[in-house]
Amino acid sequence: MTDRTQEEIELVERYSAPNYHPLPVVIATGEGAWVTDVDGKRYLDMLSAYSALNFGHRHPALVRAAKEQLDRLTLTSRAFHNDQIGPFLRDLTELCGKELALPMNSGAEGVETAIKAVRKWGYDVKGVPEGRAKIVTFERNFHGRTTTIVGFSTDALARAGFGPFTPGFVTVPYGDAEALEDAIDDDTVAVLIEPIQGEAGVIVPPDGYLARVRELCTERNVLMVADEIQSGLGRTGSTFACEHEGVVPDVYILGKALGGGIVPLSAVVADREVLGVLTPGTHGSTFGGNPIACAIGREVVAVLRTGELQERSAKLGERMLRTLRESGLPAVREVRGRGLWAGVELARHAIPARARCEALLERGVLAKDTHETTIRLAPPLVISEEDLDWALERVLGVLEEVG
Ligand SMILES: *Cc1c(COP(=O)(O)O)cnc(C)c1O
Repeated sequence: MTDRTQEEIELVERYSAPNYHPLPVVIATGEGAWVTDVDGKRYLDMLSAYSALNFGHRHPALVRAAKEQLDRLTLTSRAFHNDQIGPFLRDLTELCGKELALPMNSGAEGVETAIKAVRKWGYDVKGVPEGRAKIVTFERNFHGRTTTIVGFSTDALARAGFGPFTPGFVTVPYGDAEALEDAIDDDTVAVLIEPIQGEAGVIVPPDGYLARVRELCTERNVLMVADEIQSGLGRTGSTFACEHEGVVPDVYILGKALGGGIVPLSAVVADREVLGVLTPGTHGSTFGGNPIACAIGREVVAVLRTGELQERSAKLGERMLRTLRESGLPAVREVRGRGLWAGVELARHAIPARARCEALLERGVLAKDTHETTIRLAPPLVISEEDLDWALERVLGVLEEVG
């Protein structure tokens, strides 16, 4: 490690709350799938800020939209209209095939917004007695870091020390349709599900499971809420991960890539029956729907509308998953994934994922471990085939050489 990198890291370690343990690289610039550190060393980004950078670093059309809007208007709050929010919401709802959208900022805020909307739908529309609304969630879920959300996490580290928690959530095993069926009762208003569990290690549910969840929700008059914050917007080879089973949820929660890797932008998208329950004064956000985010978000929707990146993700993703699966390396126990999104599960006896990601860093590839035994790979969807092959060569090299 150079002195410059060491200095920058020490500064962060001195002044930042210690709630992160970043890999020892200090990034200064980025373009497309590549970033450069403070010493001028280049790295291929195989994490994409957990899919917030689906379109790569500084996508030209997205940066142009941001710059143009910066020179016009940055913030109004929603006390007034601005000329960017309407076109953005129109284009976004059209992309999702829904009637209404509610823009927020972070993903967790999007999830909180959906929780409020489905509870109110439960009382106003379904007729659940006041204070009884129940939401079904899943083991190993990840929906963000607010107190309500970590309250229904099953990750001890995410919860411990942060209670008391919000009641009204029940948790069932992911992928078990019978358990879900048993958990739904008359007070159940929604099922909150990641179509692929990202933070858990890119867990793909069994074939037919999402379709069964959809069926159960319809039968029992329960809203299916798909948290597509990480899985959506092209990551899995289609606009939404739910599409792989022909499933249309009642509510989409979007975030991460929606802000083009430039600003935080999330949204809840659903029909009027659901989002229409939120009347003036019941929900809001100072920055939600700000003109810069909306200008970028609208361009993100335009980029997705052509379907080009979804196709790339499907095609290159197949190549990536095949290469990893066919490696036959003893250190690899399983490779899960869909599109340009892979969880490489390491054999238990082998060297931990963190050490391998550090070795990858040395070789010029940025990737991140999750849960000690999984390496998560999620390159920007704009990555070239050559660059992808270059990265995979290094990934296989590290899996071979290190333990
Ligand atoms: C990242 C993520 C969130 C939380 O988003 P933040 O912007 O970090 O608050 C919620 N759900 C899923 C599935 C995510 O991957």
